[in-house]
Amino acid sequence: MSNEPNVFEIVCPHCHTTIWVDSATESVIRSEKGAAKPKSSLDELLEKEHVRRQGFDQKFEATAELEKQKRQKAKEKFEKALADKDLLKKDDGSGD
Ligand SMILES: [Zn+2]
Repeated sequence: MSNEPNVFEIVCPHCHTTIWVDSATESVIRSEKGAAKPKSSLDELLEKEHVRRQGFDQKFEATAELEKQKRQKAKEKFEKALADKDLLKKDDGSGD
């Protein structure tokens, strides 16, 4: 025999309230009013969490991409500055 809790989910045919019943204690664990709501609150919670995570990933990727672009721009600026310096040096040293 398993000691795992066996919970039944029942939807009242009259008011569409979802009722969770623990078969071991024959007691209502919780009930949730829902007017013909097809999804359980857990499904909604998971979906919300999924959307939240997706948003977070996208934000993170956007930030990483922005950081990459910033670094690339700084690198280009630095290289350009070096090139300008070299040109100046050449100008200074052109005494032929
Ligand atoms: Zn009812």
